[in-house]
Amino acid sequence: MATKTRIGLAGLAVMGQNLALNIAEKGFPISVYNRTTSKVDETVERAKKEGNLPVYGFHDPESFVQSIQKPRVVIMLVKAGAPVDQTIKTLSAYLEKGDCIIDGGNEWYENTERREKAMAELGLLYLGMGVSGGEEGARNGPSLMPGGSFEAYKYIEDILLKVAAQVPNSGPCVTYVGKGGSGNFVKMIHNGIEYGDMQLIAEAYDVLKSVGKLSNEELQSVFAEWNRGELLSFLIEITADIFGIKDDKGDGHLVDKVLDKTGMKGTGKWTVQQAAELSVAAPTIEASLDARFLSGLKEERVEAAKVFKSGGFGDVLSDQPVDKQKLIDDVRKALYAAKICSYAQGMNLIPIFLDRIKKAYDRNANLANLLVDPEFAKEIIDRQSAWRRVVCLAINSGISTPGMSASLAYFDSYRRERLPANLVQAQRDYFGAHTYERTDMEGSFHTEWFKLA
Ligand code: NAP
Repeated sequence: MATKTRIGLAGLAVMGQNLALNIAEKGFPISVYNRTTSKVDETVERAKKEGNLPVYGFHDPESFVQSIQKPRVVIMLVKAGAPVDQTIKTLSAYLEKGDCIIDGGNEWYENTERREKAMAELGLLYLGMGVSGGEEGARNGPSLMPGGSFEAYKYIEDILLKVAAQVPNSGPCVTYVGKGGSGNFVKMIHNGIEYGDMQLIAEAYDVLKSVGKLSNEELQSVFAEWNRGELLSFLIEITADIFGIKDDKGDGHLVDKVLDKTGMKGTGKWTVQQAAELSVAAPTIEASLDARFLSGLKEERVEAAKVFKSGGFGDVLSDQPVDKQKLIDDVRKALYAAKICSYAQGMNLIPIFLDRIKKAYDRNANLANLLVDPEFAKEIIDRQSAWRRVVCLAINSGISTPGMSASLAYFDSYRRERLPANLVQAQRDYFGAHTYERTDMEGSFHTEWFKLA
């Protein structure tokens, strides 16, 4: 390679590989490096296949750094936490004063602030940049949230403006967020809002499927229809796709075979911790995080369902016929209104943070397990009809009963054998290749959903 590349990228898993190809496609020659060198070769190979893109692979960090034009900019896309510190250590051994490192991962913002200070002592600049849009976004146009050194941002502004998603009438989906860890902070809140959105969609699915008895075909057309109106969004679009995908390893639809256990990597939990630390109410985001915790108690839920069934309490669902069209309409409106509230909660966190950064603290969560004790179970069974009537009455009257509703929701999740977490897990695999387990066979699976949609 005779001339130097414009930028470097270290960490070639799902996000890094796709972002590197995106940058190269926009006309910026890029050097790439990964701890496990087979991923370097894989990326270079992909770059060739996808149009001879100017991607140059390196197996050692020194020649990788040397190949980039000065002042050097290296984007890291590795696992948050210790891997980021290790990668910085590896790269900074060869970087020179004025060079810059950008962490594009979902990092805890205080780590970014600590690293920015440590880098400044070495004469290096540092940015923490949220990258949103998953695999597809990274390849074709992510939303970018850079924060930290403004000087560093200016070095690469031209690249970011081209690489980011281009929104009609609004321009590139990137803006300098602010100093310190603010780019990571805003990305964390964005992920928290996304947790809320996914949970609300899962609940809408649950009501339509469990109460309205909609088939997957009907769900697909309802969500596709919703995506043409006020609910138009990436998550609604991929949800419609998911309902249309057949199981390639058995009968029926794949979504019904996805284990109802939602995974997570931490950003939703950090959002809830920050909300508590800043005394900002974020009940929808909290509820979506709790829903993921409860979904993780699959074995306990299976046992709890047995306890309640043998105690004479099965499903509460009524046999009364429902007006399907009316139900679909109500759920659409409820989803839209709930989504607005969820966004408001997330947005409330951002100005407070920018005004005053506070330390996060670890919350102690005590999970109740008294519910399945036969005596307590009976007491709940005896009272649950009244409980539901009160909550329904309050909801119908426009009076909020968050404690009572949250408790009822806790109970209704905990005692259920199957939750709509299968859909969230399918969504995670669709856009982030996070994989899923199946109800009918061992192992970890990944489907290229978008190719089947
Ligand atoms: P990932 O699974 O989070 O991380 C894998 C990468 O980290 C690999 O390149 C791996 O190198 C590297 N790594 C792990 N431990 C390391 C260590 N000790 N030293 C050096 N490198 C190490 O990858 P990802 O899903 O592409 O995500 C990258 C970042 O973007 C994460 O912070 C993630 O949270 C964030 N993000 C992900 C998505 C998504 O949809 N997946 C969306 C937005 C943001 P080896 O190959 O050598 O193991």
